[in-house]
Amino acid sequence: MAYMAQKDLANTEVDCVRARQIADGVHSVQDAIAQAESHYGRKAESVTLLAATKTRDVGEIMAALKAGVRVIGENRPQEIVAKAEILRAEAAREGLSVGVNGEIPLYLIGQLQSNKINKVLPLANGIQSVDGIELAQKISARAQNLGLCVDVMLEVNVSGEATKSGCAPERAIDEAFAISSLPALNLHGFMTLGARVDDETIVRSGFAKLREIRDCVSKQLVQDYDGSSVKLELSMGMSGDFAWAIAEGSTMVRIGSAIFGPRAFV
Ligand SMILES: *Cc1c(COP(=O)(O)O)cnc(C)c1O
Repeated sequence: MAYMAQKDLANTEVDCVRARQIADGVHSVQDAIAQAESHYGRKAESVTLLAATKTRDVGEIMAALKAGVRVIGENRPQEIVAKAEILRAEAAREGLSVGVNGEIPLYLIGQLQSNKINKVLPLANGIQSVDGIELAQKISARAQNLGLCVDVMLEVNVSGEATKSGCAPERAIDEAFAISSLPALNLHGFMTLGARVDDETIVRSGFAKLREIRDCVSKQLVQDYDGSSVKLELSMGMSGDFAWAIAEGSTMVRIGSAIFGPRAFV
């Protein structure tokens, strides 16, 4: 990760101009989410804002938290390792608790190689990017060793684009049931990245597909557990397509550039 040598992710200093930019970004995204909820007939505050903080340093993330962000998502295990403890300490000084056992959860939303599982588990509240039972079994085994129970989402590749990770939609229901039966995991929901096209119909039909998968699994789990209702999240929508995701039932949008500005590093 070349940018990790170029930028000190543990930096806690942020100047007031940059902090103001980030606060403005948070507030305008919050407004746009509220507007989409109302426009598409969704309940007010039914959509959670997750700030996607890849390439941002601790100072920038703190500016977002002070502006009202209450969920954080990181893409790379190495970035979680570089930031989690310093972020937790900085947040504590503001009366905020971030990370495991905190009020502000920190999720991994990017690819997880099995040799990084042990590093991530003690620092993250959950993993949104589990692409199937194989990775889930490894996470479950290591979580059991550490005495943890981990929230996981099944990532589904709804668009079928070859560059995207996630399991095939046809496999998603079976994979979700298999994951939900693992001892140290809690099936928390489903995650996807929208199709990379401008066509509203295409993008929305991918999001709708994930909603149908979620509805099917959640109905079945309710029956299994004797009526007590299981709420499964739908983590979908990014800076360019979150209004369409909200239209299709998203409960968590993952927003990076619309809060923090364009990324200097990929
Ligand atoms: C970077 C990223 C986001 C946010 O992307 P933006 O377009 O900057 O809002 C959301 N989800 C995942 C998995 C990401 O990697």
